[in-house]
Amino acid sequence: MNILVTGGAGYIGSHTCVALQEAGYSVIVADNLCNSKAETLEQVKQITNKEVTFYQIDVTDEVAVETIFSKHQLDGVIHFAGLKAVSESVEKPLAYYYNNIVSTMVLSKACQKYGVKRFVFSSSATVYGENKAPFVETMTLLPTTNPYGETKAISERILTDIAKVNPGWSVTLLRYFNPVGAHESGLIGETPSGIPNNLMPYITQVAKGKLDKLRVFGNDYPTVDGTGIRDYIHVRDLAEGHVAVLDNLTDGVNIYNLGTSQGISVLQLIRTFEEANGIDVPYEIVARRPGDLAECYADASKAERELGWTAKRNLVDMCRDAWRFESRMMLKRRKNSDSKPSKSNTRPEIGKENMPLYDCEE
Ligand code: NAD
Ligand code: UDP
Repeated sequence: MNILVTGGAGYIGSHTCVALQEAGYSVIVADNLCNSKAETLEQVKQITNKEVTFYQIDVTDEVAVETIFSKHQLDGVIHFAGLKAVSESVEKPLAYYYNNIVSTMVLSKACQKYGVKRFVFSSSATVYGENKAPFVETMTLLPTTNPYGETKAISERILTDIAKVNPGWSVTLLRYFNPVGAHESGLIGETPSGIPNNLMPYITQVAKGKLDKLRVFGNDYPTVDGTGIRDYIHVRDLAEGHVAVLDNLTDGVNIYNLGTSQGISVLQLIRTFEEANGIDVPYEIVARRPGDLAECYADASKAERELGWTAKRNLVDMCRDAWRFESRMMLKRRKNSDSKPSKSNTRPEIGKENMPLYDCEE
């Protein structure tokens, strides 16, 4: 089966390309590389030993999208391509509404025109708004606090309405919780540009000494230790969730939470990272971040019941794999710049015993 993966060079998309290829699907990637590099697809190829067909296009461009649909006999689309930084979406609402909604419309229009009936959409737990966790798929969605969240809720509604008037269509809305970690090869992972917003990339930046300390946003929430609770899921598990969806498609609209059903606090994640990797992560408690929920975690039992999918990897795996990837990136950057390690960097050297490194350049 030929699957068009939009945003396939990105963090979740690249891991999903690996999972799809390992499961026997052929992958065609469409990505404009606005937040990724083509090199990532080379790494995917190195992991799976299979070709990825790649089109560097913007998926809001109707003509470019149709070129792909006319060239390939597609069996389905997984639509990852999107802008995802919550705070940036508040500053640039139009860019977010345009990119994230027009892309969904252009792709579904092409699906209608070319008779492609399977559409899987990357939504987010953010659509639950201020509902009370654990979040269940049947909950009425509440307004989100930012344009990014709105683009997800609106895209969900657009796809639901289109499926209603297209018999035989299968639309799957996947609400991701907090993907972290990386492929165990260390070849692909998360590469946020600039200072990261999310917790795990922030932790790895602090661990490698690039940032002084982590700021923990609030310790006065009504939670186990006062810090925010999230449902961290290994990106490999998340990727495998997409394969489970394609293997178990049914007509109509289906919604699934992809999470672990386990809430983890900020301090628990920091401690697990420190123990798993033998590295200190200095932090300070600061004020709450505006718009943050105290608790956000899934009831992921529907995906288990209907798709036979559950997350298999634990928090230690997530922390080890995230750090392995970051370590490999450091090594690579050093090789590229041919510079010596900074003397002021007191972090442990990469390649330490419990952390195998797979260097793609060898
Ligand atoms: P990412 O930024 O790593 O990947 C997105 C990819 O889409 C990038 O490669 C980018 O270059 C590409 N892209 C963006 N706009 C495009 C366009 N108009 N045309 C072509 N390519 C375009 O992000 P990710 O973390 O892999 O997220 C993938 C999807 O999952 C996004 O839709 C995101 O909103 C959603 N999601 C992510 C998270 C998360 O925490 N990472 C959580 C919930 C939902
Ligand atoms: N967080 C934090 N410091 C940071 C980044 C995040 O304390 O530098 C907290 C944040 O308040 C939340 C949790 O970590 O409780 C997860 O935040 P992230 O941005 O990764 O995910 P989201 O809040 O979007 O689910």
